[in-house]
Amino acid sequence: MDYSRFLSVVSATREENILRMSSSLAQKKPPIIMISGGMPNPNYFPFKTASFTIEDGTTIEIGEALMKTALQYSNTQGIPEFLSWLKDLQMSLHNPPTAKNSPDQGQMEMCVTTGSQDGLAKVFDMLINRGDNVLVEDPCYSGTVSALKPLGCNIIKVSTDKHGIIPEALKEILSRWRPEDAKKLKNNLPKFLYTVPNGNNPAGTSMTTDRKKKIYQLARCYDFLIIEDDPYYFLQFEKPKAPTFLSMDVDGRVIRCDTFSKIISPGLRLGFLTGPKPFIDRVTLHTQITTMHPNTFAQILVLQLFLKWGQKGFLEHTDRVTEFYRSQRDAMLAAADKWLKGLAEWHVPTAGIFLWIKIKGISDTYKMVMENALKRRVALVPGKSFSFDSSAPSPYIRASYSFASPDQMDQALQTLAELIKETV
Ligand code: PMP
Repeated sequence: MDYSRFLSVVSATREENILRMSSSLAQKKPPIIMISGGMPNPNYFPFKTASFTIEDGTTIEIGEALMKTALQYSNTQGIPEFLSWLKDLQMSLHNPPTAKNSPDQGQMEMCVTTGSQDGLAKVFDMLINRGDNVLVEDPCYSGTVSALKPLGCNIIKVSTDKHGIIPEALKEILSRWRPEDAKKLKNNLPKFLYTVPNGNNPAGTSMTTDRKKKIYQLARCYDFLIIEDDPYYFLQFEKPKAPTFLSMDVDGRVIRCDTFSKIISPGLRLGFLTGPKPFIDRVTLHTQITTMHPNTFAQILVLQLFLKWGQKGFLEHTDRVTEFYRSQRDAMLAAADKWLKGLAEWHVPTAGIFLWIKIKGISDTYKMVMENALKRRVALVPGKSFSFDSSAPSPYIRASYSFASPDQMDQALQTLAELIKETV
């Protein structure tokens, strides 16, 4: 694939920062005498050791030597041992066909991010010039709405139903172009399709394998990229987990965003991008001049946990988390059945943490949610937040079952039912 044609002007003009390159020299064996760079002397870092108790009661010890590494500047792409653990994970979960490609032929590469949002923002910066056409699912994750809007691209919304993006709707949109135009860089063909394929935020939907295959074929035909933003991948209630776009990516046209936010901790701000090497290299250049590298301490801490768990222990942990969210989802659905029947409609989420509720007889939920519900001490998200047109009314509400107890969810949906009755 010709990767250069996808790059924004900003990204194409980024250059390597020599000082950042030299930070990776600090880990070389045998050691190199470092009189380059501005690495502070670790002997004067005030934190010396730490001990972390994990869920089974055992501890992770960070001794003096490891602490010095954990508090120091580190590689822009991520700590090598952490990256290598993550690469093994991606290989076992998705076995991307691009792993065998040559580097310039879109070989699978990875970098650690400061959470998925950081990765997404950098991917958008890498790809978008003002006026470019981009395809997004409708409704769309609000973080992406906020990231894309100021970039001045032309947003083309693709309809969805209870299984996510409808391939026929995408095909219909694409029929405005001719596939031959793609290779000739003509007529501003869309550069990418953005989707949250599992436990969609906000719609709670998960895309079927058949749809993914059809969408991937359309991407091949019209030569666009797929941005697979999949924070709820591990929180799938049905087994086996659905194959990902990354696992189907024979061409090297998928950029996948993963995160530890929902399964380890959002506060640590750790995620990872997987995609063709030419793109990951560009994102890395961007990181060189923003955060310089993801938090070293967070990476060291999570790496120690993963080394202790192994891949098997990690997956067992994600299964335990998923079982918890399944019971939370069931509690939310029970409350919805009890209070909202006849007043609203919803689909049963098969992954993730969100219930997307369509209120009957109310064209816009904004005032009801932002004023009336808050007065009764219930916080929900109005459907409007997931639209590119903030003036367009939305009859939807997003409710999350991740945090509240079953009793609180019951109370919240009882209050919502009362509000709906008072409003219609
Ligand atoms: N994408 C989606 C679809 C999300 O739901 C979220 C978190 N709400 C993110 C990205 C950002 O996650 P992170 O905490 O990893 O930045």
